[in-house]
Amino acid sequence: MTNVPKLFGSLAFNERVMKDRLPAKTYKEFQRAVAAGEPLSRELADIMAYAMKDWALEHGCTHYTHWFQPMTGITAEKHESFIQPAADGRVIMGFSGKDLIQGEPDASSFPSGGLRATFEARGYTAWDPTSYAFIKDDCLCIPTAFCSYTGDVLDKKTPLLRSIAALDKSAKRVLALFGIHTEKIVTNVGPEQEYFLVDKKLWEKRRDLVYCGRTLFGAKVPKGQEMEDHYFGVIKPRVKAFMEELDEELWKLGVLAKTEHNEVAPAQHELAPIFSPVNIATDHNQLMMEYMKRIAMKHGMVCLLHEKPFEGINGSGKHNNWSISTVEGKNLFDPGDDVYNNDQFLLFLAAVLKGVDEYQDVMRATVASAGNDHRLGANEAPPAIVSVFLGTELTGVLEAIAADKPYKAHHETMMKLSGETVPALEKDNTDRNRTSPFAFTGNKFEFRMLGSQASIACTNAYLNTIFAEELDWVAEELKGVKPAGLSKAVKALVKKIYLAHKRIVFNGNGYTDEWVAEAEKRGLLNLKSTPEALAAMSAKKNVDLVVKHGIFTKSEVESRVEIQYELYNKTLNIEALTMLDMLHKDLLPAAEKYLKDLTTTAMNEKALGIKPDTTFLDKLDKATIQMFADGTKLEKVLLAAEKIADQKKAGTAYHDKVLAAMDTLRASGDAVEAMLGSEYLPYPTYGDLLYGIND
Ligand code: ADP
Ligand code: MG
Repeated sequence: MTNVPKLFGSLAFNERVMKDRLPAKTYKEFQRAVAAGEPLSRELADIMAYAMKDWALEHGCTHYTHWFQPMTGITAEKHESFIQPAADGRVIMGFSGKDLIQGEPDASSFPSGGLRATFEARGYTAWDPTSYAFIKDDCLCIPTAFCSYTGDVLDKKTPLLRSIAALDKSAKRVLALFGIHTEKIVTNVGPEQEYFLVDKKLWEKRRDLVYCGRTLFGAKVPKGQEMEDHYFGVIKPRVKAFMEELDEELWKLGVLAKTEHNEVAPAQHELAPIFSPVNIATDHNQLMMEYMKRIAMKHGMVCLLHEKPFEGINGSGKHNNWSISTVEGKNLFDPGDDVYNNDQFLLFLAAVLKGVDEYQDVMRATVASAGNDHRLGANEAPPAIVSVFLGTELTGVLEAIAADKPYKAHHETMMKLSGETVPALEKDNTDRNRTSPFAFTGNKFEFRMLGSQASIACTNAYLNTIFAEELDWVAEELKGVKPAGLSKAVKALVKKIYLAHKRIVFNGNGYTDEWVAEAEKRGLLNLKSTPEALAAMSAKKNVDLVVKHGIFTKSEVESRVEIQYELYNKTLNIEALTMLDMLHKDLLPAAEKYLKDLTTTAMNEKALGIKPDTTFLDKLDKATIQMFADGTKLEKVLLAAEKIADQKKAGTAYHDKVLAAMDTLRASGDAVEAMLGSEYLPYPTYGDLLYGIND
């Protein structure tokens, strides 16, 4: 049995290690500087670096790296060994405060969206002391932010850190009205991570999975997820062994891996950590995804993090549970026992509603990706329409306030299961509506639109900034209000906000067509595709928002949008090319071989004087010709899209033309696949992949 408390955080340079290894004065000064957001003195950095190096060497490290999160959405690292030449041809292991604080990786091959020319390829990494250093593969990893020589932000971490600071400032302003004073405001996030596991040997045989992370062909299997027998089902031994090792490795890094279970689709699973401050949650989610992939490999499996690896069954998302608290631990989204009289909560809630309504477009844009487009609006994920679920109780309170009426709570708080043997359960005051993109779940908001492979940094940076903006607005509205009149003023403001923004509240089933029609009537946006959604990011009001709060400059926003378009276009380009590759190398030869054998049989029959029945032969022949023709059409539109230099315009072409042609080719390809006899199948089928892990 693993001693988890001993194991936990053993590879993280966390508070416990710092306390043990740093002189008390240094530790205190470090904490103070970090809390105040001040730069560390050179002397302090030197002491810190020395302690870190000692600790790393004791754990067998030979290298260190500035670990950063460029715009690729994954992490980057360049390993430097600790060696320094000494007398007599020997080396010593050295690591200075300067090495800790600043690094200089060549930045020329990271996406910059036009911010940086290759000849000025220098990039800088700067230590983020708010996240713990950790050890991975005998390498000391130092979490860092990444920017260009000219100071332009080139990563996902910096805007997130800035948004935390912005929210800290704005939330304190509003809290002060209620006489609440805190050292620091903390954004807490618990990202639930969904993923698929497939057998590695089968995976290797599918070019689409290898190149694109999702299947581009694949006829439906007789059994999908309709029996609902996988969700929370018994975990298979190989998967269990994987989950155990994953938990252990994550625990060592200080990741609060908590819940492992089977998800709805066959071969789909989920890992949820316990929430933590968002900058740490972001680092940890990246580590989680990385370790899922590498540990799966060790167990002969491949972890698919794509949003829609298989058509016809659920895809994978990442539920971003988001709340705001004081550093002392007071959750500012906690409604308490008497919601109607909890002015602070009601005001924060109203500010969230206003923010989501006003910035629904940019919230949608932060989750836009080629992969996520397949998931949003399918039957397993919220539609591309942003709305807020509040549940009956909170909606009742807000309605009462809007009607200037007192509110009477009428819900039962305890649920009795049976006589005396089973204890009564405490009931959450919100039902778990699973179809809402942004649901209030007791004391946090669960944003469910995020894609499974995306970094959570961008979405949370925007969530924090939007909320900071609304709190600033609220603070202005309540300026000059005396404490005695505060409650009345808050109720009036909550009423005003609710009446202006209640269209964003939707408590019904978000997966239905009725909601899509209703949302349109309400004037809510339905940005269905990535190219459509990305345009929202550069809308003036959305640029103003981030510029005002010091998150991005205008050109940084533009560069990010450019990168996202590029990423979308490249993804579709690779997918289309892979499809054509599979068509020509796999599907066509397989169909031709089967056709040849069928023709030979028919000819043999004819030679024997039997009139051959060619119904099936004709059907397969027709389907094959259709598939080839669809492939030719795809080639044509792909060529046209590749020629468009403007990324935004290319995005529209890729979406409207290339993706449409891919869908058509997929349909005809799948029709052919479904007709092939087992011995002719060119690659493992959906059945093989989804039910391939049985040991
Ligand atoms: P589910 O959505 O599957 O019902 P839970 O609601 O229990 O699961 O929790 C999901 C995630 O929400 C977990 O990562 C949990 O740590 C996180 N969470 C719980 N409370 C908070 C909070 N106050 N702020 C942010 N995340 C939270
Ligand atoms: Mg959830």
